[in-house]
Order: sequence, then C-alpha cells, then structure tokens
Amino acid sequence: MKEKLVYNKFSDYLKIKYGEKVYKLPVNLPITCPNRMNGSGCSFCAEVGTGFEAMSSSAKVKEQLTSTKRKISEKYHARKFIAYFQNYTNTFMPLEQFKSYIWEAAETEDIVEISISTRPDCIREDYLTFLKEVEEKTNIQMNVELGLQTVNYHTLDFISRGHGLAEFIDAVTMIKKYDFSICTHMILNLPGDTIRDSIEGSKILSALHIDIVKLHSLYIPKNTRLSKAYEDGTITLCSKEEYIRRLAAFLEHLSPDIVVERLFSRIPEKDAVFSNWGTSWWKLQDEFLQFMNEKGIYQGQKYNYLNGSALNRL
Ligand code: SF4
Repeated sequence: MKEKLVYNKFSDYLKIKYGEKVYKLPVNLPITCPNRMNGSGCSFCAEVGTGFEAMSSSAKVKEQLTSTKRKISEKYHARKFIAYFQNYTNTFMPLEQFKSYIWEAAETEDIVEISISTRPDCIREDYLTFLKEVEEKTNIQMNVELGLQTVNYHTLDFISRGHGLAEFIDAVTMIKKYDFSICTHMILNLPGDTIRDSIEGSKILSALHIDIVKLHSLYIPKNTRLSKAYEDGTITLCSKEEYIRRLAAFLEHLSPDIVVERLFSRIPEKDAVFSNWGTSWWKLQDEFLQFMNEKGIYQGQKYNYLNGSALNRL
C-alpha cells in the first residue's frame, strides 16, 4: 500500500488546489498569547512558543516573507506561497494592528494563501469579517489554524490550555460561516490521554467537518513545567508503538475528506528533554507506514458513525 492511499496528504491537496507545489513561509510577529499572560501558559510551551525555526519577530512581515521566499524559490523553483503566521496567538492583538500585518502579507508578491495560527478563545466576528474582505479583494485564500490538542477536557485542564472543548466548537462554528478552511492541531500522546481520546478526537473533528488536521507527537521543550514533571517522573509518556497505534486509530476513524498535514512533530533535539523517542522523523514515518500496510489500515476505514448510523442498519 502506498503512502498516498493510507492517508489524505497535505502536499497533494495543495497541488490540486493551486495546480502546483505550494510552500509555507513562516512569519514571526512580536506578540504573545493570552494564556501566557493570564497564567504561565500551556505546560509544554517554550519561551519561544512554537517559532523554533522562524526569523526574528523584529523584521517586518514583508521582509520575512521576501527573504524566505527568495531562498525557497532558488532551491525548488517555487512560484506560489502561503504566508504562515505561526508563532503564539496571531489574532491576540488590537484589530487595527492585525489588519496592518495581514495587509502586508497580502501585498507581498506570489502569496496565494494566508494561514493564521491562533487559539479557539481568540476568534471574533470582526476579525473574520476583515479577513473575508481581504479574501474578496485579493482572491487570496484564508486558512485558520486552531490549537485544540485533545478533546479530553480533563487533559486540557491538566496541561493548562486555558480553554475547553466548547470554545473550540464555538470558534469552528463561527469560522465556518466565512467559508475559510480550518486546520486543527492535535497531540495524540498527552499524559493522561488514551487511545479512546484519539478516536473521540477524530470523530469530533469529522463531525465538525474540519478541513485539515495537523498531528503532533508531544515533545517536551527544555525549561518548561512539563520538562520538570517529566524529569522528576511525575508524568510518563506512552511508547512509540502505542503512539503509532493511536495514530492508526485516529486515521481510520477520520473522515476521508479531511487532509492530514503532519503525523509527527519536528523540533531540534537540542531544544527538548523528550522528542520522538530519540527516533528520526523519517524513521518514524517509515515505521508508521509499515504498521498501516501490515494491518491494512487506511484513513476513513471506520468512518461510519455519522448521519444516523443506527438508522442505516434498519
Ligand atoms: S496556546 Fe500556544 S503560545 Fe499560548 S501558551 Fe499554549 S502553546 Fe504557548
């Protein structure tokens, strides 16, 4: 069985949508996150947030985009790009400031899509209305990335996410009205979660008709609350084999229409006390595909639980 048939790949989705290969250009803004302000942030949040490989936030949006675009164009002859507002919470700022950043990206040449990473409790109608205006004026597509991580609200509390499942459902309902694509981040090996949480997460994202899912294996950055808990043995993480089983279960319950952007996290090992069981990203990918092939599992195989599923058996 080829990788393509096992799950609905993001690179294929972009190629179909834009007619050629499209590359993401990370943008790093000088902002923060309400969860870091109100408490001490998610227990795994590093000082740099998620921007391990991004340029300095002091550079202008256009400068960041143009510089990374030049490098990628030279290497891959790329012509179409996504401006990816990646780090911290990219809607947590006054509306006028948000507008100015988004326009800077929209006015950069060769941008076909703007992707905005944020939290479910930072979505509001006036921000979405503005994005719709930009989309209509420029024909640049909008994508909103929401961090959820797990549908288990006990685990959300344990990792101090600062929001529950209801806020996520509310944000999705609001964004859907504007017809923007929605990507959701999930971590399948959070301490306290089981394979049952992975399956329920997959079902909820399918029921909500999410467009894209980005799956992460939990990594534990140095100098975080979670790194202390990991080092003193207060928490344990599931094995690599169990993670692969959860990944397979997640995918087999996931709607075949949902695009899968990622299966394992990627961060520099030097920045973490735990990352991918000390296994390279490529090897994990191979082990996962081998597991799926051996078991004959593919995305959507068990997607039969919506639309009055009991009635269908009458
Ligand atoms: S939502 Fe993101 S930026 Fe905010 S505390 Fe959590 S991991 Fe950090």
